[in-house]
Amino acid sequence: TARKRFGQNFLTDGNIINRIVGAIAPDNDHIMVEIGPGLAALTEPVALAIDKLTVVELDRDLVERLKVHPTLKDKLDIHQGDALQFDFAQLCQPGKKLKVFGNLPYNISTPLMFHLFEFAGQIENMHFMLQKEVVLRLSASPGTKAYGKLTVMAQYFCQVVPVLEVPPGCFTPPPKVDSAVVRLVPYAEKPWPCKDVELLRKVCNTAFNMRRKTLRNNLKPMLNDDEFAKLGIDAGLRPEDISVEQYVAIANYLYDKK
Ligand code: SAM
Repeated sequence: TARKRFGQNFLTDGNIINRIVGAIAPDNDHIMVEIGPGLAALTEPVALAIDKLTVVELDRDLVERLKVHPTLKDKLDIHQGDALQFDFAQLCQPGKKLKVFGNLPYNISTPLMFHLFEFAGQIENMHFMLQKEVVLRLSASPGTKAYGKLTVMAQYFCQVVPVLEVPPGCFTPPPKVDSAVVRLVPYAEKPWPCKDVELLRKVCNTAFNMRRKTLRNNLKPMLNDDEFAKLGIDAGLRPEDISVEQYVAIANYLYDKK
């Protein structure tokens, strides 16, 4: 039976599974890595299409099942443990980047994406099943309600492409929310290089502290009106009204000022 604390909602709709595997496009030119294989709904079709699939699963009982799985046991490189703590760099091989995918436990999806962004340079792409609302935030444009700090950080590291929506009935047990699959493609060369990503994160946290207030008010401790003017940013705008590029410009300005 599914364990609630591990966010276990297993995919059971064959049509959706096929479409997700099509989007992942498994190949042997990359190290394919699945987070949270569970009962192997995605694991099986992906593993059977390639030579070797690496999986990271926290639940020991599920790991034991995979180890004795008749068609999969020889195909899998199984790591039992917490994906949030996992060193993904250890999986890389010379000339081979990772392709990471998973139907993620929704309670850890945001910290897990931030953890994976640390390995962005070693990742070709990622496909994740997430809450639909999270996919909307990841792919949001400036000036919309969904645009926030998660948007800025994700779009700093990656190109974000929503792939498909998945209703609750495709899972057992059905989750309480709508789901969607997103593709994240880390930039080989960042369009707006940031000198200190931690500082960018801090700027975003501060700027979006109160969404109904202006940038001037939220960023008061960091930036004065003259500095906003120097950066060409209207301090009277709301945090959702400026671009990722402008957030990076603020972070780089503060970095140089230090
Ligand atoms: N991929 C399967 C599917 O689509 O049917 C299972 C998806 S289920 C939503 C999430 C899976 O992630 C479960 O197998 C769960 O045990 C595993 N999991 C939960 N937390 C984890 C963590 N921190 N690290 C690795 N796996 C985790």
